Formats: sequence, structure tokens, C-alpha cells
Amino acid sequence: MNKLRFPKGVRFQCQRCSRCCRDTEKGPRRILLSVLDLLRIEKNLGLNRENFAENIQGSHPFTFLMKMVDGKCIFLDENNTCKIYDFRPLICRCYPFWIERRGNKFEFKASSDCPGIGRGNVLEKKVFTNLLRQAVEAYQHTNLDDNS
Ligand code: SF4
Ligand code: SF4
Repeated sequence: MNKLRFPKGVRFQCQRCSRCCRDTEKGPRRILLSVLDLLRIEKNLGLNRENFAENIQGSHPFTFLMKMVDGKCIFLDENNTCKIYDFRPLICRCYPFWIERRGNKFEFKASSDCPGIGRGNVLEKKVFTNLLRQAVEAYQHTNLDDNS
């Protein structure tokens, strides 16, 4: 049974600033991709991984890195909108939170670099439960040739 910890009472409402999709004055943005992310984008958008990702052989499951163009994610359009929103990677679905895993313990932590934190409604536990389910799925998927 996986154990979940998350910031209780945190408020969040995306301000659509696209700061999480680009490099900032604080440094480069590294958009890591799991094998599942990679396969989902390839399958649903008809793209080859070479077009959008680099294999950095990172720690499982985040073995790929999204390509950037002029400091922006390759999928960010001229209107600062994500071109692959429905199929965006787990790391983008989670942001402004990220997950730290120790064995079967998963802890969500909040980024202080997102202007949406502290705005909007308090996030309910089910938001994190849903993200955790997707994260576990990513950890379980290892086959680069299988998207079943
Ligand atoms: S998640 Fe945060 S940084 Fe990203 S677009 Fe929304 S408000 Fe901006
Ligand atoms: S995939 Fe979409 S949401 Fe994720 S960084 Fe790129 S443009 Fe932003």
C-alpha cells in the first residue's frame, strides 16, 4: 500500500503564465519525461521521440528530457499555450508540485516559483491521490516498445 503525504491546505490556481514551460532567471527548466510520457506523446500525436525528446538515461522512470527551443519547451506555442495539453507529461500535470519517493512513500512538495500557489481554492486530497495513481503507473511502466 502506497503512503501519500501532501501539503495540507495549500491553495492553487494556475495563472497561465507559462513560467513552468520555460527557462527563467533562476535557471534552466528541465522537463523530464517518463517512458510512459514518451510513448503517450508518440502514439497520440504521431511523433517520433527524436523530434521532441533526448534520452539522458536518467533515473527510472524519468529517463528522457524534453527538447527546448530558445529556452522554451518545444510544445509551447506562440500564445504561450501547451500544444499537447491532453497528453502533457506527468511532471507538467503535477506542477507546481513534485514528488519525492522513498520506497512506497510518496510525498508531494510545492514549488515556491509558481505564482499560482496561494491563489484559488484549497486543493483536496483527491487531487493528489489522482496524481499519485499516475505516478505509480509511470514507475511501473518500463517497456519502451509497449504502450498497451
Ligand atoms: S502552473 Fe504556475 S508557473 Fe505554470 S503556468 Fe500555471 S501559474 Fe504559471
Ligand atoms: S509539455 Fe506543455 S505543459 Fe509541459 S512544459 Fe511543454 S508546453 Fe508546458
